[in-house]
Amino acid sequence: MITKQKGTYDIYGDEAKKRAYVNDILATLCEKYNYNYIETPVFEASELFHRGVGETTDMVQKETYDFKDRGERALTLRPEGTASVVRWFIENKLYGNMSDPVKVFYNAKMYRYERPQSGRNREFTQWGFECFGSDDVMSDAEVISLAYNAYRFLGLDDVKVKLNSLGDTASRMKYRESLIAYFEPHIHELCEDCQERLKKNPLRILDCKVDAEKDIIKKAPVILDYLNEESASRFKKLQELLDLMDINYEVDDRLVRGLDYYNHTVFEITLNDSYALGGGGRYNDLVETLGGPSISGIGFAMGYDRTLLAIEENGVNIPINNSIDVYILYVSDTEKETAAYLTQDLRLNGIIAETDMLGKSLKSQFKSVDRFQAKYYIVLNDDDLKNNEVVVKDNKTKEEEHVKINDLVDYIDMHM
Ligand code: AMP
Repeated sequence: MITKQKGTYDIYGDEAKKRAYVNDILATLCEKYNYNYIETPVFEASELFHRGVGETTDMVQKETYDFKDRGERALTLRPEGTASVVRWFIENKLYGNMSDPVKVFYNAKMYRYERPQSGRNREFTQWGFECFGSDDVMSDAEVISLAYNAYRFLGLDDVKVKLNSLGDTASRMKYRESLIAYFEPHIHELCEDCQERLKKNPLRILDCKVDAEKDIIKKAPVILDYLNEESASRFKKLQELLDLMDINYEVDDRLVRGLDYYNHTVFEITLNDSYALGGGGRYNDLVETLGGPSISGIGFAMGYDRTLLAIEENGVNIPINNSIDVYILYVSDTEKETAAYLTQDLRLNGIIAETDMLGKSLKSQFKSVDRFQAKYYIVLNDDDLKNNEVVVKDNKTKEEEHVKINDLVDYIDMHM
């Protein structure tokens, strides 16, 4: 038997319905914030992620699915959404005529070679969005607002934003130096990966899962002490806006996030102070790093699968419809054509309708009526059809009514 790959899953049944419901809420909310839907390819040139996400990240070093196609091109299955969207933005020269920020959202499968566990898979979905062209804190506030309210609209009221600032390049360089000076004498207390990180990207030591609980990490200098005046004032302004917008946030001076490209604002969304359900931040240099002009950006990605788990664990009720409106049964083959015609007619008028396609006995058709939890059923028979009518039966009350065929859609509509 050929089975699915480790860390991948099939989505069907109630799970598929749940996702359709969640997608609908997220897409509707994005529309209100005036973000447009975008789809980018599942695979891209490997270089995009090496340059975009950063050579020193775990994601690029250990987690990407890299392969060569038959034309010897080095390709990678996308591990995240931002780099691809930035590639799209540059390739289509959308920076050419930017009277307003360019805002897009995606809902896409991502691929990372990780150790699968609950809420962590090799193929997983991220819902995310990006906003290009504004360096104003208004755009930071908007992006945080959209991320935060997305969870709330999904019924997760207790979410909180963990917020930090990595400052501008100058602030970060100063902080970087102080981290190197701080960690260098203790380098052997850190894991092998962190020893590597020290010179390449010391900020990432703070993010290390292996060393996280060590005192040496907990006592490390914090970025907020290294922000220059401009960066600090920007961060303060952002907090004032979030206060005003009634967004539940908390400054977390340890938050640096795993990727190389962030500056100024970084944030994560957590539920009940446990693991992150999503994260984002500002990336003012990324467009340039990937070959475009100097245009700022900010974005967010929701861990969709974890969010669904959280919805379940928190008992949020997602309405899932497993019942149909009308089942059309037929006594003999003579009524088959009418059954086909009427079923289509109901469906095209917005009514969920079903009929038999297996040539079942009437008794078996009645079993289907119950299996599909049909609200109404109609048994087509020659006598009724001769009079151009059908008998509609309410499956719950068992009350019945004669209805003219031409009035059937209106009758069902009125009674639903
Ligand atoms: P990142 O792109 O690493 O910042 O991740 C953003 C969000 O995606 C995280 O907060 C997680 O909720 C989710 N995520 C990251 N990696 C995985 C994975 N392997 N499986 C499922 N969700 C993931």
